[in-house]
Amino acid sequence: MDLNETSPREWLYLTTPIYYVNDIPHIGHAYTTIACDVVARTARMTGKPVFFLTGTDEHGQKVWQSAQKFNLSPKIYVDRIMPRFRDLWKSFRISNDDFVRTTEDRHILGVQDALDRLWKKGDIYEGPYEGWYCMFDERFWTQKDVPDGLCPDCKRPVEQVRETNYFFRMSRYQDWLVNWYREHPESIRPESRYNEIMGFLEKPLEDLCISRPVSRMPWGIPIPFAKEYVTYVWFDALLNYITVPLSSPGGAENLKRLWPATHVIGKDILTTHAVYWPTILHALDLEPPRLIFAHGWWTVNGEKMSKSRGNAVDPVVYAERYGSDILRYFLMREGQFGQDADFSDSALVQRVNADLANDLGNLLSRVVAMANRYGEAGVFRIPEDYTPSPELLQAAREMLPEVPRLALRFEFHKALGVLWNFISLLNRYVDSRAPWVLAKDPGRKNELDSVLSDLLEGVRITAVYLAPFMPQTAIRIFESLKSTESLTGLSYQTDGVWGRLPKTLALEPVSPLFEKRNPDGSVQKEPRPSRQEPPEKSGGTPVLASPGDAPSTDPENPGQVQPEARPAKPEIDLEAFQKVELTPARVLAAEPVPKSKKLLKLTVDIGREKRTVVAGIAGSYTPEELVGKTILVLANLKPAKLMGVESQGMVLAAQTEGGVSLITFDRDLDPGSEIR
Ligand SMILES: [Zn+2]
Repeated sequence: MDLNETSPREWLYLTTPIYYVNDIPHIGHAYTTIACDVVARTARMTGKPVFFLTGTDEHGQKVWQSAQKFNLSPKIYVDRIMPRFRDLWKSFRISNDDFVRTTEDRHILGVQDALDRLWKKGDIYEGPYEGWYCMFDERFWTQKDVPDGLCPDCKRPVEQVRETNYFFRMSRYQDWLVNWYREHPESIRPESRYNEIMGFLEKPLEDLCISRPVSRMPWGIPIPFAKEYVTYVWFDALLNYITVPLSSPGGAENLKRLWPATHVIGKDILTTHAVYWPTILHALDLEPPRLIFAHGWWTVNGEKMSKSRGNAVDPVVYAERYGSDILRYFLMREGQFGQDADFSDSALVQRVNADLANDLGNLLSRVVAMANRYGEAGVFRIPEDYTPSPELLQAAREMLPEVPRLALRFEFHKALGVLWNFISLLNRYVDSRAPWVLAKDPGRKNELDSVLSDLLEGVRITAVYLAPFMPQTAIRIFESLKSTESLTGLSYQTDGVWGRLPKTLALEPVSPLFEKRNPDGSVQKEPRPSRQEPPEKSGGTPVLASPGDAPSTDPENPGQVQPEARPAKPEIDLEAFQKVELTPARVLAAEPVPKSKKLLKLTVDIGREKRTVVAGIAGSYTPEELVGKTILVLANLKPAKLMGVESQGMVLAAQTEGGVSLITFDRDLDPGSEIR
């Protein structure tokens, strides 16, 4: 079910899983929660009523064991550790409407009520249970699962358990569930996860054991009709999605208004949400969820994230180092929600420097500084006869359906892509209209003010569309523009359209929105404009600066030619540049050139053919790390022999203090793609 297809007045009830309180929060928890927050904020800005729920799952074996280890009662133990989730979400500006803890009375009573109803209906029965039990994972395995006596999940020894337990008649609802999914194929996303569940449902469903004897594990919700048992933690946890609305004012009416929910989860808990949960709901006479969206996992530098590898990414550390908005942006921009994605410091730094510091941060600084400088005594006035640039107006209008529509489809990277196209357009507009040139001619004062009005309004609108993704940054932009928007009540319809800026603006130069980072994530001390990487412009190519880049003509960069900057080269025309054949090339093989310390011989694919190129990069790259990389090659350079090997092109790289840095691409592309 696409959220865009629900009626605008229909409630969006959005949930994260409730997180197991004994876990240390990692980037996966943050990913789910931030994604939900972006959807919730987007939906609110379209005028849709939203109820956004998150919380903590606080019962079960592992909590009980940890509490014993610390000599604490389980309740005191969970009270102490629960804030690491709750406070993390505060620091990430998560806009949840409620936070549920499964140890709260409102939840416990709701679970017991549900158990009673299912017991009376005959959907729960008592039966013998025999099986291999993993204490750590709190789950039973069959004989064939544990041929070596070890848990298939955690590899710990399992133990034979024979006991009486209570079972939910899940098998009774298998046919119903299969039919329901056949009729609602859009209710599990991405489609591959739907297919996974349909495959799973081809095998007979067993009934679900929903109790644990108190004698073995007392830390759970007591089963109302069997006092010597507590509720199995999964059964307890899933019910939070209905116990919260049911215990809120309005009770059953409230639930009816909100239901069905949209659940956002990681793919590891798909079966519990897409099989157990709908059958429990159906037995309780409730509809299955509207949508279950199972997102992918984050690998770290290409490796699976795991406790044993010790490479889990701590969102607290990253939020402190970069700021929570930057992490929000990175997670929503870098991966495709639903697919796995890779987390690395280098990718994060690249996003900060290019997208945030260059494209967005510099745009704001320049526009505000120019409005301040070219206003009268620092006060800028939008001209009486101001008409917006048709091109910018059109682009802003296209964002209104597109950005929220994509965000509500969980296509966050695409939504941000549309917004960043708009930001690039604004940057190009600065360059092409060159306000600093207009400012020299008093006869063009009106034109200058119109151009600046376009830019100020464009930046303001950018902040509106950015708000669901980077709420604190949006507020900083509004404040810099002396615009009056606030996050509360922000609306695409009223705030996301042209012409909302105050007519008179007393603007002051602003400090940079984002600091540029070194490859290790540390803040760059002195942002030094260089020709390869023009921080005060964007939209330029990595090899050539744009014509408007000459420092002396840009008021934001007056005479900022650092002594150590390389001298500018003579101007060339486009024709001269077009003679240069630059092409993305994939490295197929790399090997040292015999007797040379510096040279590597690369075999590269440039699309139409393979080439051999020799590059002086051996001091900075090993042959192994080059294979598979897509690099930039000058393809029509006259071949030359280097240490006896003919090089049919030149690999392009930037000189750095420690060696060289190859020019690579931030998207997958085909070798030979045109460079323009
Ligand atoms: Zn286990």
